[in-house]
Amino acid sequence: MRASLFWKLGLTYLILVLIVLATFDFYVGRILRQDYIRAADDQLSSLAQVAKSRPPEFDNSSALAGWASWMAHSGARVTVIAADGHVLADSAHDITTMENHANRPEFIQAMAKGQGESVRHSHTLDRDLVYYAIRYDRAGASPVIIRVALPLAEVDTALAKIRLRVWAASFIILILGIVVSAFFSRSFTHRVARLKDFSRQVAAGDFRPLPREPGNDELVDLADSLNETAARVNQMIRTLTEERNRSAAILRSMVEGIAVVDSRERLVFCNEAFGKIWDVNSAEFEGRPAVEVIRHPEIIELIRKALAEQQVFHGEISSGAARPRIFSVTVAPVASFDGAAAAQPAASQPGAVVVLHEITELRRLEQVRKDFVANVSHELRTPLTAIQGFAETLLSGALDDRENNRHFVEIIRTHAARLARLTEDLLKLSRIEAGKVEIDFQPVDSRHLIESGIEAVRLAASQKQLSIGAARLPRALPRVRGDAGLLGEVLRNLLDNAIQYTAAGGRIEVAAEASGEFVVITVADTGIGIPQNEQSRIFERFYRVDVARSREVGGTGLGLAIAKHIVEAHGGRIWVESVVGGGSKFHFSVPLA
Ligand code: ADP
Repeated sequence: MRASLFWKLGLTYLILVLIVLATFDFYVGRILRQDYIRAADDQLSSLAQVAKSRPPEFDNSSALAGWASWMAHSGARVTVIAADGHVLADSAHDITTMENHANRPEFIQAMAKGQGESVRHSHTLDRDLVYYAIRYDRAGASPVIIRVALPLAEVDTALAKIRLRVWAASFIILILGIVVSAFFSRSFTHRVARLKDFSRQVAAGDFRPLPREPGNDELVDLADSLNETAARVNQMIRTLTEERNRSAAILRSMVEGIAVVDSRERLVFCNEAFGKIWDVNSAEFEGRPAVEVIRHPEIIELIRKALAEQQVFHGEISSGAARPRIFSVTVAPVASFDGAAAAQPAASQPGAVVVLHEITELRRLEQVRKDFVANVSHELRTPLTAIQGFAETLLSGALDDRENNRHFVEIIRTHAARLARLTEDLLKLSRIEAGKVEIDFQPVDSRHLIESGIEAVRLAASQKQLSIGAARLPRALPRVRGDAGLLGEVLRNLLDNAIQYTAAGGRIEVAAEASGEFVVITVADTGIGIPQNEQSRIFERFYRVDVARSREVGGTGLGLAIAKHIVEAHGGRIWVESVVGGGSKFHFSVPLA
């Protein structure tokens, strides 16, 4: 491009110079020629006047020839022509071989008007001449034409000389012109190339501005406006990129699965959460039919309805067999997700946005709540029925039954006590769950905590003929951070359970050790143990391995649930290791103070 622009400009200059020169040459030639002819005309007319004033003897041919050659000393050609065109004398040619001159324009003019002139090629001499003829009227004889002529060759030579000089000067000017124009067009093409490179660089995404050129011509203006455009485009791209990154980040961090399908039910977008739900790499979804990726007929059905009816549809689906996950699905139609298409509604592509919101946990909690209500009513019904039954028995006569009335009242009291325990535990649990229990975090001496816990149950243990102790407790135990009252309750709960589920003659051992950031306290018994598959569930409310046995020993099924809540509220963890018939080990960790 650079060379072509350079040559184009150079050639244009050259052609212009040549045209100017040719025009100049043409006009100068003409003007000079005209000037010369005018001068020659003047000269010839005076010569003719002289000839007329000293006319020769026209009838004496040798005298006439002499006169003609005498006149020719003036430098002009002299011809004498009779009225019929017959040449009588000529200073430059032999008249015997000359043709009749009646048809010569200057002759015709002179015959008619008295004088005539013409500039033309002489057939006789074969050169260009300026002719001037006058008529010489004789008394008693026919008129004679005296014609004088000067060759044009002189003007041509003069012209050639001038032309040579002009052309030589022009040539020098041309060379200079070429050099100058080459210089200018080179610098011009160089600057244009610089702008071209700059726009390429901008197109390639490099928005560094072009250094400013000195001067203020159009190219500098162009460079300035290109710089401005580049800066604007850069700013725009930056804004768009920021916006895109922001929305990408939002979509990426959303827990909801989001996908966009087009009118042909093909996926055009999905976020990572969506990809995870259907186990597809979100980079590979594009253009794939929704049916292939979303393997759930109900969602596909919702998409079709939303596309067809242009309305929002909701649904709830469950996906996965082993561990079903429940999602609430919303499919909303979108008029167009393509900016270009939105500009021209005729070409707009409707689509739909699918939002999957996982509600597995919500549904689980709902289930837990339902179960809880059912469990609570069930738990309350047993003692209430017993109390009601025995009260009625007493009322319908047993009050007077001296042998049994006291026993019946005692049964009523046991059940009432059980009811009280139950409600108390329920209340405690709900308060802990609702976060209403204030935990008074203090440094707690672990050793003291364990020793007082053991002391509190020593009597109950000995009544059941169980030995209890903390023989392997390290001497120096770090202090933990927590609420002494609540942690004591956890330990009491575990110790009570150990006593309850261990047969006479067994042993209960409490241990503790520092482990990392925590102190882990362990209550081990030699009791009945817990089956492997139930170990994770005993911390749930009302869950009991053997309901009848638990009731028999006065359990509510809430103890471990309460313990778990308290430990977790302290930032710790509770877990169990147990073998059926081989005893259980309950551990709980509490962070160090
Ligand atoms: P409960 O009031 O019935 O003891 P918990 O929540 O304290 O309720 O315990 C839940 C269930 O876990 C008990 O019913 C029992 O089946 C089992 N369990 C708890 N501790 C032990 C243990 N030390 N040995 C055997 N089973 C236990």
